[in-house]
Amino acid sequence: MTDLRDAESATAAQNTAPETSEWGFETTAVQTGIPRGLGETVGIPIHQAAAFQFETLEQAQGEFQTNQGLSYARLQNPTVRALEERVTALERGTATVALASGQAASFTAMLGVCRAGDHVVSTGSLFGGSAGLLNNILPLMGVTATITENTPEAIEAAMQPNTRLVWAETIGNPAGDVPDIGAFAAIAHERGALLGIDNTWGGVGYLCRPLEHGADIVTHSLTKWAGGHGSVMGGSVTVGNRHDLTRNPIYTEGGESSVLGVRGEGALAWRQRWFGAHQLGMTLAPQNAFLLAQGLETLALRLSRESETALALATWLETHARVGRVSYPGLSSSAHHTLARKYLRGGFGAVLTFEVGDPAAFLARLRVIRIAPNLGDSRTLVVHPWTTTHGRMPEAARRAAGVSPHTIRMSVGLEDPGDLRADIGEALG
Ligand SMILES: *Cc1c(COP(=O)(O)O)cnc(C)c1O
Repeated sequence: MTDLRDAESATAAQNTAPETSEWGFETTAVQTGIPRGLGETVGIPIHQAAAFQFETLEQAQGEFQTNQGLSYARLQNPTVRALEERVTALERGTATVALASGQAASFTAMLGVCRAGDHVVSTGSLFGGSAGLLNNILPLMGVTATITENTPEAIEAAMQPNTRLVWAETIGNPAGDVPDIGAFAAIAHERGALLGIDNTWGGVGYLCRPLEHGADIVTHSLTKWAGGHGSVMGGSVTVGNRHDLTRNPIYTEGGESSVLGVRGEGALAWRQRWFGAHQLGMTLAPQNAFLLAQGLETLALRLSRESETALALATWLETHARVGRVSYPGLSSSAHHTLARKYLRGGFGAVLTFEVGDPAAFLARLRVIRIAPNLGDSRTLVVHPWTTTHGRMPEAARRAAGVSPHTIRMSVGLEDPGDLRADIGEALG
């Protein structure tokens, strides 16, 4: 374990893989980020502090030149670092920046490789907030985006000479479509761009490790399965060590990146930390970092159980006379089943959609399952995407995202599967 008070070794912790790459997911999830030694806490301690001490002026001056150690908690905090180390190890990355929300993480990831005049290509199977960033926020900075279909052919056709980033989600919401990550990576890399995957639905590497399939950047809404109890918000950006920045002018021409002072392998992660945390202040609070790190300790148990229940419910609903189309990547009837089998392991995720005749009546009759927009909660949650999560999208885009006026999206929790089935059965009438 790194001594977090030692600036040099702390930098090493950010820039090299922890010595946990041989461990299985479950071991990594509970063992990473905790100090070993006499009197050390068993579990990650909360450092509830905004600033950290120096013993000499020389130390303070050194820190203000490099910004690699601990000085002010907007940039780094030991509890947040422990979470970052855990996420890095679970995703088999090299460095992670944890931030206040998934939205902050996506924005930071995009800013890490784009500046005015640059271009992003994204699939349309996109979390609404990510579409908002691409359509409304990045254009304010002179960055444009093409949002296209979730196929290698469509991605390839949308690439431009100034494309710096290809963006996709591990499992699309709510269509349940899985991108061909390896093919997307090849297309991006051939043109000097990077591939960023929002791996929120991939469960911090439990269902999918996009870096192992060629992605360069992985983001998370840790609010969902990482936290796992619907009680805390957070996000993360993780980078691997194979990304090539030599064709991105931000990194070759200097300018801001030379101001930031970090070159070479650690440059991308550093730029993300500097922008997301230090400059934009989307810093994760230590208490929240603790809750998220604790959530990761049971993620494998939760997501394997939730995936099992989701598959059982989807299989049953497919045969139910009062249910229309059921969409779940684990069903062999799913158009996305082949890619899901290629890229997912340990389950097909906790989210399914199905169509009911009268969504309002169905939702009103539920007694166990709650209506709420979150995902990855320990409780089963449902929404009517047509009028809520996807309500502001044009109708054609809603349908392209796999949403009809009859669609119910369900994020399966940890209840007794029999109780869920009975609740759904009674609500269907
Ligand atoms: C929820 C979500 C986000 C945004 O995360 P927040 O923590 O809500 O900011 C991004 N991507 C996906 C896939 C999500 O489900």
